[in-house]
Parts: sequence; C-alpha cells; structure tokens
Amino acid sequence: MLSVETYQTITEAAGALGDRSRYIAGGTLVMRAVTYGDQSFDRIVRVRQTDRNIGNDAAGLRIGAGATMSDILASGDAEVLHPVARLVGGPALRNMATIGGNLFAPNPYGDITVALLALDAQVVMANGQSLPVESFLSGRDQLRGLVAAVTVPRIEPGSFLFSKVSRVKPKGVSVMSIAVSSRRGDPRVVFGNMGPLPTRARAAERALAQGSDANAIAAACAVCTEGLAPVDDALASSWYRREVAPVHLRRLLQNGGRV
Ligand SMILES: Cc1cc2nc3c(=O)[nH]c(=O)nc-3n(C[C@H](O)[C@H](O)[C@H](O)COP(=O)(O)OP(=O)(O)OC[C@H]3O[C@@H](n4cnc5c(N)ncnc54)[C@H](O)[C@@H]3O)c2cc1C
Repeated sequence: MLSVETYQTITEAAGALGDRSRYIAGGTLVMRAVTYGDQSFDRIVRVRQTDRNIGNDAAGLRIGAGATMSDILASGDAEVLHPVARLVGGPALRNMATIGGNLFAPNPYGDITVALLALDAQVVMANGQSLPVESFLSGRDQLRGLVAAVTVPRIEPGSFLFSKVSRVKPKGVSVMSIAVSSRRGDPRVVFGNMGPLPTRARAAERALAQGSDANAIAAACAVCTEGLAPVDDALASSWYRREVAPVHLRRLLQNGGRV
C-alpha cells in the first residue's frame, strides 16, 4: 500500500526520505511510475509549499527547485531558459513539470538539464551544499537528499543557443537536444540523448575555443560525437543519432537551429 507524507519544508522532507520512499514534485514522472505499478517505493514524500521563486542575485539567476516550466516562461529574469522551457512537453505538462524534477529525468527527457550543464549552473541541495551540474549528474544515482534550487551564472544575451530535435512538433520528446554557451571565450557544447546522461562534447568545445568562424564551426561539427555513446531507443538508433548530430550542431551554430 502506498502512503503519502506531507512536510512543511524541503529540509524536513529531506530528513524523512529513506529506502522505499520517493519525493514528488510536479509528479509528471512519479505519478506515471505509480500508474505503471512501480514497486520500488511505497512512500511518497511531498512538501506543502515548494520554492517556486525565480530571481537574480549576486551569483546570477536563482530558480527554486519547485518552479515549473510555466513559472520559468512567466519570469523575465529567467529569459535565458525560455527557449528550452517552451519545448518541454505540452501546456498541461509545463504547468506541473519542475526544474528540480527535470534534473532527475532519465533519457529521453532532461531538456532543461542539458541547458543547465551548458550554462555551468550549480545545484543547491536542501542541506546548503552546492555543486556544479556536471558533478551532480555524475553522482545523481547515489544522491541522498533533495534539491532546493538551481543557480545560473550570468551570461551575455545571445551567448546561449538551444535546439531540440524531435520527430513530432510540438510536444515531441527529444531525439537529441543540443545546448551551446559561450562565456568569456569558454564554449560549452552539451548533448542530450547522446549518452546515459547529458554529456559535454569536449572535442567540439576545443574546436570552438579556436574561433567562431565557418572553419571553427566545421571543425567542431566534424568531431562533435567523439567520446559520446548515443542512445539506441525506439525514437532513433544510436547510428542515426551519430550521423545527424553534426548536421544539427551546424544548424544551431550557423543559424540558431533553423534549417
Ligand atoms: C508526456 C510527457 C512528456 C514529457 N516531455 C518532456 C520534454 O519534452 N522534455 C523534458 O525534459 N521532459 C519531459 N518529460 C519529463 C518530465 O515531465 C520533466 O522532466 C519534468 O521536469 C519532471 O519534473 P516533475 O516535477 O514532474 O518531477 P517528478 O515526477 O515529481 O519527479 C521526478 C523525479 O525527480 C525527483 N525529484 C523531483 N524534485 C526533486 C527535488 N527537488 N530534489 C530531489 N529529487 C527531486 C523525484 O523524486 C523523482 O525521482 C515529459 C514527461 C511526460 C510524462
């Protein structure tokens, strides 16, 4: 039998987590697991009022873990993430899906997380610890505790690009997603669905560090799948993803993702 426990704060909820419990935020994935009869948990832990605040502070943009995609789209402060949030699911899903939950979403999901990795965001845990998205992702499956917020360092307008490749538009899930950022000459290229987790394409980053002209873009695209292990699933084969990744990266770098 499934029990639901409600706590006042995320810190209390974090303390109540244990084996066979699952924290629920927007519930778009947790409730699907319940519906499908997932037997790996029998306690659902929730918080009465999650942090949905979004605003800029000295560190940059801070987004409470409970902020939904719709909250992000309604916030002028979070403009950098608008091109990503508007491509997550349909309107009903965006009203429920949180940024905190997106950090845990398995392939083929996690579009916002791909963007956060490119933007060099930090994940702030309920215990106050803060860690880069990259470290967070590498330890995600062993993680104990809850995410309280995400912080995104400031970036110049026009220095962040995002593209989601899907077969169905709108509302289709990603064949792959690509996020590119360039902060003070330090480019980041991140793919979703090109590995078990959102993954940096480091060879492409090194090529783009040499410049942003047509030659540098061609060089980056030529090596962009180096070291990646594209997902093989019902949406697309691993071979297909590897073949088309350079094409989509080139489109993104040359004309913002437009064909
Ligand atoms: C039909 C459908 C379409 C979708 N389309 C997309 C899409 O286009 N792009 C995309 O990226 N995703 C998509 N998703 C996946 C999902 O909706 C999103 O990733 C969403 O952001 C998950 O957030 P949530 O609040 O609903 O998570 P929940 O379902 O509440 O939780 C998901 C997981 O995250 C954990 N979790 C949630 N919040 C926290 C926290 N603060 N601290 C620690 N753990 C936490 C939960 O314990 C759970 O394991 C889709 C899902 C569905 C069902």
